Amino acid sequence: IEHTAYQNDKLAMLGKIAAAIAHEIRNPLTSIRGFIQLLRPHLLQLGKDEYARIIVAEIDRANDIIYEFLNSSKPTAPMKQEISITALLKEVILLTESEALMRGCMIQLESYEESMMVSIDVKQVKQVILNIVKNSLDAIEDVSSDRNGLIDIIVHRTGSDGVDVIVRDNGKGMDRATMNRLFDPFFTTKEAGTGLGLSVSYRIIRNHGGSIGVDSKPGEGTAFTIHLPLIG
Ligand code: ADP
Repeated sequence: IEHTAYQNDKLAMLGKIAAAIAHEIRNPLTSIRGFIQLLRPHLLQLGKDEYARIIVAEIDRANDIIYEFLNSSKPTAPMKQEISITALLKEVILLTESEALMRGCMIQLESYEESMMVSIDVKQVKQVILNIVKNSLDAIEDVSSDRNGLIDIIVHRTGSDGVDVIVRDNGKGMDRATMNRLFDPFFTTKEAGTGLGLSVSYRIIRNHGGSIGVDSKPGEGTAFTIHLPLIG
């Protein structure tokens, strides 16, 4: 699947606009949220507490969108640091394991070589892997009554100077139409999604001289492959 520079320019521009107005939007959102909370007891008496819950959830979603925009509009030049890719993945697993367990899902790491060093902005690349693992958890949640959730993270060297990190899940998978739009800013199939996770991830990995690819089958699962250059 081809992903054009256009998508990324669009994201960068939107990010700048968002950064400029985010503050102005956040303040009124915060007061709306506060006043709705104050109205809550009255709405509860009217049997309309559900409305308050929806309003608060939607305000939180708007805040999430602003937050993700701000992240994506930050300077794009990565602050690079040398780190073992396996060490980074272990950290991501540590961060997501308890949530995975709560959802009845197992995360497994397969790495045959511990010392594959990459030069990356650790925070940014960690965010990418977290985005992808969280998407896998969501995709598994939708089918978890049928089978045990499993996320495999496989790391292997490619050629003489690169590494592939494959995150494979046995979640609900996706059709061709979804796969084609996956990296578009705002594309989401989730009720409370922002559709920014993968577009931001795409940009981060591209800024590291790498690439992201995806392979998926509806009803079977999805595999994301992140390719990064190795050091030395
Ligand atoms: P969000 O998670 O907010 O929807 P993303 O950009 O992270 O935004 O993902 C965009 C869409 O890609 C998701 O809404 C979902 O439809 C699809 N998707 C991403 N990862 C997976 C996956 N592992 N399995 C199935 N669908 C996925």
